[in-house]
Amino acid sequence: MQTKITIIGAGAAGLFCAGLLGQQGHDVTVIDNGKKLGRKILMSGGGKCNFTNLNVEANHYISENRHFCKSALKRFSQWDFIQLVNQYGIAYHEKDHGQLFCDNSAQDIVDILVKECQKGQVKFMLKTQLEDVNEEQQGFKLSTSQGCVYTDKLIVATGGQSMPALGMTAIGYKIAEKFSIPVVPVKAGLVPFTLHKPLLAVLSTLAGIALSVEVSNERISFKENLLFTHRGLSGPAILQISSYWQAGEAITINLLPDFNFEDDFKPLLDNNRNQSLKNCLAQILPKRLIEALIQLNLIVDLTVKQLTPTQQQALYQTLTTWNVIPNGTEGYRTAEVTLGGVSCDALSSKTMVAQKQPNLYFIGEVVDVAGWLGGYNFQWAWSSAFACAQALSQV
Ligand code: FAD
Repeated sequence: MQTKITIIGAGAAGLFCAGLLGQQGHDVTVIDNGKKLGRKILMSGGGKCNFTNLNVEANHYISENRHFCKSALKRFSQWDFIQLVNQYGIAYHEKDHGQLFCDNSAQDIVDILVKECQKGQVKFMLKTQLEDVNEEQQGFKLSTSQGCVYTDKLIVATGGQSMPALGMTAIGYKIAEKFSIPVVPVKAGLVPFTLHKPLLAVLSTLAGIALSVEVSNERISFKENLLFTHRGLSGPAILQISSYWQAGEAITINLLPDFNFEDDFKPLLDNNRNQSLKNCLAQILPKRLIEALIQLNLIVDLTVKQLTPTQQQALYQTLTTWNVIPNGTEGYRTAEVTLGGVSCDALSSKTMVAQKQPNLYFIGEVVDVAGWLGGYNFQWAWSSAFACAQALSQV
């Protein structure tokens, strides 16, 4: 089979790019190993797809090249995608931190992408695994589970490694390496932490408890919810910091992010002098958490009036700088994104083409650009796909 442009991956980036190219009049074929289009979109945002964010900036992305994403994000911004969503009359709402979710279902976003592809007469080869790519005199020979495909131009939109059960493969990185394009080492991002056994034994009893915290390390801090689970720590604050975490490092959890010692904490203690510390603190923190902190010998089980001023300060310090060393992360099984990927330094930020391979493009999560939680990863998929399609509109 011979085709002009082949896109590997029918995810957010691949589908959006295919629709744009098809509508420019290009002959486009999308190859995907799954049965359905946009499978990750369907499971995103708890089934409601957090499709973009009102506040998209380059500092919401992690990459060895911090500036790379700027050009694409500027040329196809969140406002452009919102306009497309509005054009299709899809109802959506804003959650915390400018995150936009579908009111109805993530299927609405997949339907937009499919309709855009239909308008462009895009062809699909589903249930087709790409196994290898070889350079031909003009373009590439793709070896797939359904036979060979010859293509003039190849767009790699194979995503990351998260959710391996969905059929994610490392083929995108292998293609890059085959053409001497460097790949930044990959690891799971936006992922829950597991804990060492002794700590887990105490904290797993808190499974299901969520509270607003500020989690930080030397590089960054996030004020969001933390969720205790049977396996360790999760919730938005943890997922965010996990993308900035190195194995063996501690994270610092401020359990009282809105409490100042003089104005809030000391008055609380002074006004409850005859209470047990446990009951006093239960006014501001979940009681089971306080019991766990006592069990971990981080808090002493006294009455409030027994505390000296120095002990009051120390207690405040303990509750606002709780250092936890995670055992690890849950890995790709539950990660929302893959950190690392095809090196930005080897790609054009304007067109997503490989500098050394004029007919080879990389878009979406396979590239070393990973967003924060909050719709940033889909926005990168849309923006990088647009940059690629715009570049090809000139050929
Ligand atoms: P993908 O969507 O991963 O698509 C890649 C496609 O390539 C897949 O269909 C895959 O099967 C196919 N493929 C791979 N290898 C081969 C091969 N060898 N042969 C053929 N086909 C192949 N981001 C947000 O911004 N908002 C959210 O609400 C959000 N929620 C998420 C929830 C979950 C549970 C997960 C896992 C991720 C979530 N993300 C979210 C991240 C977001 O889904 C991804 O960043 C985005 O889907 C990446 O799009 P992509 O097109 O680059 O890759």
